[in-house]
Amino acid sequence: MDLHIRDFDRVVFFTGAGMSAESGVPTYRGPGGIWKEYDYERYACQEAFDRDPEGVWEFHNYRREVIHALKPNAGHTRIAELQRMGLDVHVVTQNIDGMHQLAGSPEVTELHGSLWRVRCQDCGFERADREAPLQELRCGCGSYLRPDIIWFGDALNPAPFREGNALAESCDLFISVGTSGAVMPAAMIPLRAKRAGATLVEVNIEDTELSHAFDHHLRGSATEMIARLSEGL
Ligand code: NAD
Repeated sequence: MDLHIRDFDRVVFFTGAGMSAESGVPTYRGPGGIWKEYDYERYACQEAFDRDPEGVWEFHNYRREVIHALKPNAGHTRIAELQRMGLDVHVVTQNIDGMHQLAGSPEVTELHGSLWRVRCQDCGFERADREAPLQELRCGCGSYLRPDIIWFGDALNPAPFREGNALAESCDLFISVGTSGAVMPAAMIPLRAKRAGATLVEVNIEDTELSHAFDHHLRGSATEMIARLSEGL
């Protein structure tokens, strides 16, 4: 393959659920997507939490338990390795599973929050942990803690979104891995990179709604294609 990370100065990996599929984390869309099994309106939106916090926690604690038992895959660890080598490599992720951090990537930009953080909507308390399942669902102030995740219908946190855009606009190689490009406004980030002049690569097992925007299409699994793009480094 001609395309190689060594030929670029600053690289951004923009990752979605397909990045963690080979770790065993279910994607949303595509084969095995979790929204086929669960009705998201019941489990992953603010209205559901306001109506039934314990039910929403049951779903998120189930996800905590499933994901806690899984490990970063060779793609996550390869990206972390490239960063440890001192290459100018960044991770902007839509994932909430914490796999990049577990693999050793520093400063991951999490656009959609984390399954491993909670916050209190009433007093502002925030905490990170890896407890699976989370036992104490209430904050010290008495209110229910909320998973610090961007749910359906929530606005994105402005700070990581700004950071993701800034990284996209300052890189010369933008590699999208395992994202359907269906979730807005995250799906705008590759377009920012394109407008700023970066080379855009899409790693996916199939075509997506955003494929037309990419300069190169690598059809195959995340682990295989990340290994190829960085072979010999
Ligand atoms: P998505 O489920 O919409 O799309 C997944 C994409 O990954 C698909 O295009 C699929 O073809 C591709 N894919 C599947 N297996 C792959 C593999 N082995 N290698 C390469 N590509 C593969 O996911 P999305 O685009 O990230 O958007 C959905 C939202 O779902 C995001 O906001 C994210 O927060 C959330 N989500 C996160 C997780 C997680 O944290 N791991 C899991 C499910 C959903």
